[in-house]
Amino acid sequence: MNIEREYDIIVIGAGPGGSGAALAAAKKGMKVLLLEKRQEIGAPKRCAEGLSMSAMGRMGIERDDLWIRREIIGATIYAPNGEHIGVDYKDGPEGYILERKVFDKCLAEKAAGLGAKVLAKAEVTRLLKEDGKVCGVEVEFEGEKKEIKAKIVIAADGVESKIAREAGLDTTLKLVDIASGAQFEMTNVDIDPDRIEMYFGNDIAPGGYVWIFPKGENIANIGIGVRKPYAKEKAIDYLKRFIESRSGLKKGSIIEVNSGGVPVGGLMENMVTDNLIVVGDAAHQANPIHGGGMGEAWVGGRIAGEMAAEAIKANDLSKKFLGKYNKLWWEKRGNKLQKLVKLREVMESFSDEDLNWLVDYLKGEDLIEFARSSGFGKFAKILMKKPKLIKLARKLL
Ligand SMILES: Cc1cc2nc3c(=O)[nH]c(=O)nc-3n(C[C@H](O)[C@H](O)[C@H](O)COP(=O)(O)OP(=O)(O)OC[C@H]3O[C@@H](n4cnc5c(N)ncnc54)[C@H](O)[C@@H]3O)c2cc1C
Repeated sequence: MNIEREYDIIVIGAGPGGSGAALAAAKKGMKVLLLEKRQEIGAPKRCAEGLSMSAMGRMGIERDDLWIRREIIGATIYAPNGEHIGVDYKDGPEGYILERKVFDKCLAEKAAGLGAKVLAKAEVTRLLKEDGKVCGVEVEFEGEKKEIKAKIVIAADGVESKIAREAGLDTTLKLVDIASGAQFEMTNVDIDPDRIEMYFGNDIAPGGYVWIFPKGENIANIGIGVRKPYAKEKAIDYLKRFIESRSGLKKGSIIEVNSGGVPVGGLMENMVTDNLIVVGDAAHQANPIHGGGMGEAWVGGRIAGEMAAEAIKANDLSKKFLGKYNKLWWEKRGNKLQKLVKLREVMESFSDEDLNWLVDYLKGEDLIEFARSSGFGKFAKILMKKPKLIKLARKLL
């Protein structure tokens, strides 16, 4: 396999963040190398595979039947007491459940199609530095360690990122800003094949929620995200209990087990240093409410790829120049996500009784409006109807 000794840009990690960065940089004429430690891009998945139409719109990609498993035409939100709200998307699907393994590969294929060199089973073992500045990577490929130089390195190595820290950036997440996820892909289960389901409650999923994302008539990703300090047990224990309590689920078969962390806060003001940019989960660029990060990673990656190309063309690889990426990302995504962190903080103060009240009060159309609008004014007004929640509501105004 032909790997050259020097590239303009090396991207570490071929998730959506890395592929987005590689594609954007290759599009700008850069010589790009995208390295992925796993032997198969996208596998094993660490994802419930839900992608909203709005996230797809931001990504700027068209639907492809290769990676669509199911259209989402409705949602059901369950309160702790079992009461629920139904949401119907009357104007067409609100999103899709994907086959993530195929999706991630297709994204990497797009980057390769524009000229990026993509290599699976190529693990970056350390950063190379010259005068304290990053100048490339050491990569283990085909049983050998090789040093490859680059003007800029983009770290897209996911939530467990080591690369950013090695470059001197503090990526530590507070426990409250990380959700622990556990999931079974199950078949032969009784589910609604057209609607996603979400279950809330401080006993069911403390600091998070349980999801059922259908992939077909009798097959679904059934998973959970929980957070400390709210959760006293492991995510998988809450999930098993949930499944055991439902006869339509416990009779099913498990065809895949997934787990992983999801950043739901701790957005980074600075995601660059000299010659290096961090993107995607590695930079905590995920939705703080539902934990969706595919779209965010791709968008963050694309901004980083374009910025890196601009820096190389300007012959200025300094932290100051690359800092434009911070500014652009915060304008495009960060400010919106920061508001959602606030909303998450308000929601995590809800007792089960508050959640029961909300589900009783809200209508499906309210939820569609909340999800699509950028302000929380209407939500705050609803909370104010319950005297106990007035103080919390004020935090949203
Ligand atoms: C249980 C669970 C459910 C989720 N559900 C959803 C969902 O329904 N919808 C949604 O949008 N998001 C979901 N997410 C979040 C989503 O999966 C991530 O936000 C998204 O994958 C982030 O993309 P990324 O490119 O930043 O990182 P990743 O997709 O994690 O990619 C990072 C890549 O870097 C590679 N890598 C790491 N270190 C190295 C190294 N040293 N050398 C080479 N390669 C390296 C890894 O192998 C990996 O492939 C879920 C997450 C979890 C854990």
